[in-house]
Amino acid sequence: MQREYQKAVQASYPNPERHDCPGTDVMRDLAARSARSEDIEEDQQWKHVIHCGPCYHEYLNLREGCRLGGEATIQHESR
Ligand SMILES: [Zn+2]
Repeated sequence: MQREYQKAVQASYPNPERHDCPGTDVMRDLAARSARSEDIEEDQQWKHVIHCGPCYHEYLNLREGCRLGGEATIQHESR
């Protein structure tokens, strides 16, 4: 289901120039908070992520890193 949603986001919001993107640090923070089951639904930057294909893709990668390997993997992914 998440994969379906990712496709929909990327199709609807390609944002090739990364306009208004908050950056990898923010994405990492959101991914870490989500991994800890914190509520990020009302976060303004999260609202950007779900309306931005590249950010959402980056977020999913970081989220995957949180789930699989913790901080070390996240650091690696961001480079
Ligand atoms: Zn973005």
